[in-house]
Amino acid sequence: MNNGNSRKLYDLALQYIPDGVNSPVRAFKGVGGNPLFFSAGEGAYLIDADGNRYVDYVGAWGPLILGHCHDKVISALQDQLAKGIGYGASTEAEVEIATKICELVPSIEQVRLVTSGTEATMSAIRLARGYTKRDKIVKFEGCYHGHVDGLLVKAGSGALTLGEPDSAGVPKAYTDLTYVLPYNDIPALQELFADQGDELACVIIEPIAGNMNCVIPSQDFLQSLRDLCSKHGSVLIFDEVMTGFRVALGGAQSVFGITPDLTTLGKVIGGGLPVGAFGGKREIMAMIAPSGPVYQAGTLSGSPLAVAAGLTMLNTISEAGFYDELGNTAKTLVDGLKERAAAAGVPFTTNQIGGMFGCFFSEEETITSFAQVIRNDTAKFQSYFHDMLNNGVYLAPSAFEAGFVSAAHGKTEIQQTLEAAEIAFGNLCS
Ligand SMILES: *Cc1c(COP(=O)(O)O)cnc(C)c1O
Repeated sequence: MNNGNSRKLYDLALQYIPDGVNSPVRAFKGVGGNPLFFSAGEGAYLIDADGNRYVDYVGAWGPLILGHCHDKVISALQDQLAKGIGYGASTEAEVEIATKICELVPSIEQVRLVTSGTEATMSAIRLARGYTKRDKIVKFEGCYHGHVDGLLVKAGSGALTLGEPDSAGVPKAYTDLTYVLPYNDIPALQELFADQGDELACVIIEPIAGNMNCVIPSQDFLQSLRDLCSKHGSVLIFDEVMTGFRVALGGAQSVFGITPDLTTLGKVIGGGLPVGAFGGKREIMAMIAPSGPVYQAGTLSGSPLAVAAGLTMLNTISEAGFYDELGNTAKTLVDGLKERAAAAGVPFTTNQIGGMFGCFFSEEETITSFAQVIRNDTAKFQSYFHDMLNNGVYLAPSAFEAGFVSAAHGKTEIQQTLEAAEIAFGNLCS
């Protein structure tokens, strides 16, 4: 495949942008080689700066659940553009999207829009601290909640890919208040609550982890977490920035039937534009400024463009059968991959839920912990990634990211992907 234009753009980018990218995982550090530059997206496909077409399993890191350039989303954006980009004041569409979010995710009684997932988690944590008048917080190993200072402790996603779960520039005092526990480990949870429970402002968790590849928690683990938080008066925050409207219409909380106190959202709710949201119990949300003492604000919050795209997206994915089809597509894909890996004699395990999946080059039959995730064979992934790319399939450039399918992925795209995978697995055993 000719990548001449991407190379040229990357060389130029390296001069003016740190590492040539505006977000770390885009730099291909986890897989080697030069990152691709893209010029267009069409349904399930991405087109790079050299005109090569790829079946896209990144979907802008989650938002594009309808695929690229969905006609309804594009026309909603065009309609709004004709009326203005932003007013710095309230709009009817904001009320509509808030109503819609509260309907779809019943644990959310009130919601506030922000501009990114990072802002959503940062605000939710401040709110939980203000509400409980406690300082300590808990997160889980391998979970990523954006680049919030106090949460960059054993984080997933780019921080994991780069082998630097902790960031320079974060004062130790900021993370001294953050406890980190192993994911899916009930005894560790019980121990911390027995010791510190009454001092914990909140626990923040990805209720299905998608930033250490894809790891699904046990029902008992999430239930224990809910029970312990209730018992000790700690706020339970489900960070559904990735899983919200991705694994099911009601998010991971509807899959497990567990009600958090606060939920953070992002990605899908913006339809591909910069949006985040946090919401939950009315009593807690009442603590926010201007009526409450917890300050939170945003110049571009509730941007009419983002709201137009997000609302159209939410209305479209609310149609009956949407998630059955999305889940079937993802299942057909991972089943097909497993079959081909087995035929080639390559150890390979998958996790999948709704439109989200994970692949592991691992001998283990099930992957449920961070410790298992980091044993994923990254050398095999690297070879697989480049073979897939050369055969027209774009995967997240890291062994520690989840994959996404969209409603635009059909039989043709899955078949093309499986054919590429057959070649990639074949090369791994030769
Ligand atoms: C992506 C992500 C974030 C951060 O969202 P940004 O919009 O990148 O700031 C937070 N939490 C989870 C679970 C995410 O997947």
